Amino acid sequence: MKIRTKITLLFTFITATILLLFASIIYYSAKEAREKEFYVALEKEAVTKANLYFNAKVTTQTLQDIYKNNRVFLNNEVEVAIYDTVFHLLYHDAVEIDAVKETKQMIHDIYRKGELQFEQNDWQVVGLRYPFQGKIYIITAVAYDQYGYKKLTLLFRNSAIVFIISILFIYIAGRFFSKKTFEPVTEMTEKAKTISATNLDLRLTGNGNKDELSELAGTFNEMLNRLENSFDAQKHFVSNISHELRTPLAAIIAELELSANKNRSTEEYKTVIANTLQDAKKLVKLSNSLLDLAKASYDPAEITIKKVRIDEILLDARQQVQIANADYRIDIHFENDSEEDSEMLVQGNEYLLKVAFANLFENGCKFSPNHRCAAAISFTNARISIQFSDDGIGISAEDRMNIFKPFYRGDNKGYAEGNGIGLFMTEKIIRLHKGKISVSSLENRGSRFTVELPHG
Ligand code: ADP
Repeated sequence: MKIRTKITLLFTFITATILLLFASIIYYSAKEAREKEFYVALEKEAVTKANLYFNAKVTTQTLQDIYKNNRVFLNNEVEVAIYDTVFHLLYHDAVEIDAVKETKQMIHDIYRKGELQFEQNDWQVVGLRYPFQGKIYIITAVAYDQYGYKKLTLLFRNSAIVFIISILFIYIAGRFFSKKTFEPVTEMTEKAKTISATNLDLRLTGNGNKDELSELAGTFNEMLNRLENSFDAQKHFVSNISHELRTPLAAIIAELELSANKNRSTEEYKTVIANTLQDAKKLVKLSNSLLDLAKASYDPAEITIKKVRIDEILLDARQQVQIANADYRIDIHFENDSEEDSEMLVQGNEYLLKVAFANLFENGCKFSPNHRCAAAISFTNARISIQFSDDGIGISAEDRMNIFKPFYRGDNKGYAEGNGIGLFMTEKIIRLHKGKISVSSLENRGSRFTVELPHG
């Protein structure tokens, strides 16, 4: 069931319940009031007739004539009877009609209780004690409240009609307004259905108001922006990778074709082998970097995270870089005196942190004429900070803004070989560890990368 229908039905149901409760209370109050008022009217009529009979000494015949006359014109005349205490009938408005037959028991009860009120087949009966000249008489008054019942029936009928019309109206109004309210949602759904990977540039249009639906449209559009950006980045990434792969492969093919064309000297073959070997190594490095990048892009839940020692990882990273590049020199300093092991611990993945640190070491050395760089470790209770510094060629201000983007290589790229994945991957790894990386640099003076990692 659609929310629109659900809301309309719920709204109608709630209103119907309230209306029904309201109408029932009014109807039952009116019913009670009618009954009470009619008993009072009956009592008045009974006493008046008794007064006429006993005090004014109006004859039985006259009283009965008045009664009959009233019956013809008013149609709901009260029928009064007067008894003495031993059930002896003194007066009766119309014995031949006698809607409610008095019994000896009834007269006795009235005498005993002083007053009696009850209903018989919708006829109301009142019995009273009437003292006159030292004797007690019993008067009964019986009548059917024709007007009262008519009024009640009318009230019931009108309430029912108003109830049905109101509910119908509320249902129709509910449907109309919920349709109006949900119109933007329907539009959004239709628009969202047309958005796919091929037209991610489409955006939802809000209703122009500052309401929840506009907010939803805005949030959805922001999500589309992010998706579009990440799709674009993905596309660029793939084309960059294929470019990076193609360049050394094309070089290898060209070298091999050239040497296969005709016989070459041993020296020339050696050069070709050396060149192709270098290109093959570049390819291996690139594929290793891509593999590491894939690992760094895993969901954190899929990566083994445990307490690791930062100093040990730094030493391992240094060793790895120095094995691959025998002329690189890397110094590691400890700024504070470490007293406890826990000060060197972070929650992290050893392999990925080693990749990140090795990358920073390698960059520091390869962009420095003296191939030297250093790492300085300091810590607080909350975090460990590592500064990777070199006295190398530095990074321009513009490049500093972009070096963490995938495949970005700075103006100084001619100085050393690379593929532009390193810092992108390093930043990803540090972020994965809930840490931060920042850079400061002066051209021709050197660069400093600061990595901050929480202890976890
Ligand atoms: P790569 O080193 O393979 O070129 P990176 O992603 O590691 O790629 O670095 C991106 C760019 O940042 C480098 O091309 C270089 O321009 C600049 N860079 C990084 N580290 C340094 C550094 N220590 N000194 C000078 N430039 C650096």
